[in-house]
Amino acid sequence: MNAAILKLTNYLSLEAERGYDNGSVVGGLDRMLEPWKEEALNSGVTPELVDVVVSRLSDYPRLSAKSREDTLRGLWNRLRGKYPELAPSPDATASAAAERAPSQVEKAIEKPDPELDAPDGSKVSEEPASYAEDASEKDELPAPDLEPASLDSPLTAVPGIGPKSAKMLKKLDLETLGDLLWHLPRRYDDYSQLKTINRLEFGEEVTIIGMVDKISVRPVRGGKLKLVEATVSDGTGSIGVTWFNQTWIATRLKPGKAVVLSGGIEQYLGKLTMSGPEWEPLERKQVHTNRIVPVYPLTSGVTAKWLRRVINSVVRSHADRVVDPLPPSLVSEVGLVPFSTAFHQVHFPDSWEQLEAAQHRLAFNEMLFLQLGVMRQKRGWQELETEPIQVEDEWMDRFLAGLPYQLTNAQQKALTDVRADLERPVPMNRLIQGDVGSGKTVIAMAAVGIAASQGMQAAVMAPTSILAEQHYATFLELLPDSTGLPAEAIRLLIGATPEAEKVEIRAGLASGEIQVVIGTHALLQDPVEFDRLGLAVIDEQHRFGVAQRAALRSKGTNPNLIVMTATPIPRSLALTIYGDLDLTIVDEMPPGRQPVETRVFRPIERARAHTFIRGQLAAGHQAFIIFPLVEGSDKIQAKAAVDEHKGLQDTAFPEYRLGLLHGRLKPEEKERVMNAFRQGKYDVLVSTSVVEVGVDVPNATVILIEGADRFGLSQLHQFRGRVTRSSDQSYCLLIPTSDRESDNERLTAMEETSDGFELADMDLEQRGPGDFLGTRQSGFLNLRAARLTDLRMIEKARRQATLLFEEDPMLEAPQHAELALAVDRFWTNGSGKGEIS
Ligand code: ADP
Ligand code: MG
Repeated sequence: MNAAILKLTNYLSLEAERGYDNGSVVGGLDRMLEPWKEEALNSGVTPELVDVVVSRLSDYPRLSAKSREDTLRGLWNRLRGKYPELAPSPDATASAAAERAPSQVEKAIEKPDPELDAPDGSKVSEEPASYAEDASEKDELPAPDLEPASLDSPLTAVPGIGPKSAKMLKKLDLETLGDLLWHLPRRYDDYSQLKTINRLEFGEEVTIIGMVDKISVRPVRGGKLKLVEATVSDGTGSIGVTWFNQTWIATRLKPGKAVVLSGGIEQYLGKLTMSGPEWEPLERKQVHTNRIVPVYPLTSGVTAKWLRRVINSVVRSHADRVVDPLPPSLVSEVGLVPFSTAFHQVHFPDSWEQLEAAQHRLAFNEMLFLQLGVMRQKRGWQELETEPIQVEDEWMDRFLAGLPYQLTNAQQKALTDVRADLERPVPMNRLIQGDVGSGKTVIAMAAVGIAASQGMQAAVMAPTSILAEQHYATFLELLPDSTGLPAEAIRLLIGATPEAEKVEIRAGLASGEIQVVIGTHALLQDPVEFDRLGLAVIDEQHRFGVAQRAALRSKGTNPNLIVMTATPIPRSLALTIYGDLDLTIVDEMPPGRQPVETRVFRPIERARAHTFIRGQLAAGHQAFIIFPLVEGSDKIQAKAAVDEHKGLQDTAFPEYRLGLLHGRLKPEEKERVMNAFRQGKYDVLVSTSVVEVGVDVPNATVILIEGADRFGLSQLHQFRGRVTRSSDQSYCLLIPTSDRESDNERLTAMEETSDGFELADMDLEQRGPGDFLGTRQSGFLNLRAARLTDLRMIEKARRQATLLFEEDPMLEAPQHAELALAVDRFWTNGSGKGEIS
């Protein structure tokens, strides 16, 4: 482009950026007119155009900001009429670009160019000859003129992507054009700050527009590297620019060429320079420079610049053709930007505001699909039928009177929920969530009692045999009185149950003689059949897989289901991942519980922590010492556990009895150790994280957790729950692996709160939803734009989903056809297939 025009537009852009303060030129914009006029005429700008510029700008300083803006915009459009390669006027770019399809001008410069460089740029740097003399258009992939390929087409449908490049992109899980559109930037670099060279400052990230004065290549470091050196000037000054080992740039940027450079300003021998900046020829809409530039997740063999170009091409050719699955009425009611606009703006934003609106739009779509799917799942449940189970109030009263304590309000409410669910002809599907020690077991027991008293069978599944045994003991103590069941009708079935007894239990379950069975996954082993299973309870549900939960349920005909968890589930997840379940929260502790006093120790303070534990032991209490799993095979882990145990025994606690628990022990052995600890035969239980699950050892008052930084806060909170059973003050000591400030900072949250929900929220923020998913629907992790932590968005989408669902639950109406398809696609693309409880 003409150098004088370039300079002029540079000033105009600056003015727009500065909000028309007449500050782009020292002394006022009109000051540049005289020298500019001469330069323009000399360089071939027509006298008419020079006149227009001069007459419009000579009054500029005296205009109001608004008039200045109008003037500049008018002038810019006028210039663009003559020099169509100019970008739309800088301030108007945003709104104009949002709606428009590529203009004729843009189309004209997007000449097809099938010979593209390789994704890693290798072909480019090795074969600069493949660039034609005037290669300025080659930097962008063409938008295909022909009927565009559908979004399901393979990537090879994009001109410039061959089988080899497609293979590289597959590493990023990109297989179709639609995948590319949904390959969202990881972050953005803001190169939209245009500056003149005389105003550059050391250390800033900027974009400059200038002209290449000279450019050359010279070998450095004994010829090992090649350095491209250029001088670029813009009329206010000049700057040296260098690139390493990209000699082909010298063949592209010939002297006299206008170029846009974006990057950091550095200093070399007292002079400002740019090294390795992003660059593009000026003659077209900028992709890599002079704007908010997307930064994509990459893989080896794919360069940022190449991927940006590919995505730019697909966005330009396809974003306007994606069909919005949402009904237009919904879009306008929620105030969302058009779907196509969202794709344009999320990849190549014209402003931060538009970027935000675009992200919001895409996230909303995903969240809506998620909600609709969850609602559909829930409705699926509710269409099932089951036999209602009812008990008299007298039964309930007798049961409650038999308990050694009074239910808390939260427990009463949970019981009311459960009882109402059982009475309905629809199977119960309820998640009971309550902090460690909040007393969930008794609620399950009541439900089991209700079912059994009505002649139904009930099964309770726990993740470990220790826990199953503990439940069994509790049930045996309290249920026969309230239900009138003989003790033989309540049985325990775990891996260690002798085979003969297993056979007998199976027979009893099949005949219906045994009404209540408590066990581990041994319950799922095939020969176990029930006569009439009316209730399945799954304790610590996150420890089971989807398939295991489904397997237990399938042992009856639409049995009622209670799942219990002590991992507090943040509300945002309760509404999404767990959205198909009814939720009861037991948010109150039985009276008399003191919060566990928690302290973070630094590794060098370990001896003090041990001294503290010895104090507790001396007072007749017991202690847990937990250390994280070491990396490696079972065998290595077991050895580490054994070593740890020996070290503690020999050095820290020589006069005490230390038990050891780790994952490699046989179940019977684990059980033996755990029981011995409970009975006080050990003073200290050294354990890997297998002890996590809710076992009662009331005499244990202190738990020390080594490597605390490796655990989530929720998990630490679970560990801490091991010592809440005591009526004495109990303690939790945390020692992180390193002394790093940042690790310890996260852990201090444990000192400050004993609220599991608060900790769960922090975990979700810090570690993402992985900890909460367990084996449930890992597909939720596939969300691209939406975040499971964004409660406001979730609630907004949920409201709309509810309305839609009430109006047209199966999405059968013709105006919902696209939506129905999109929801299906969302739920089958890896996420949420099949069972979700
Ligand atoms: P979790 O919710 O962690 O499974 P449990 O059901 O194991 O908790 O209950 C923890 C302890 O609290 C048990 O020893 C139980 O007997 C006791 N408990 C439960 N409810 C109450 C209550 N309302 N008052 C006093 N103690 C209770
Ligand atoms: Mg429990």
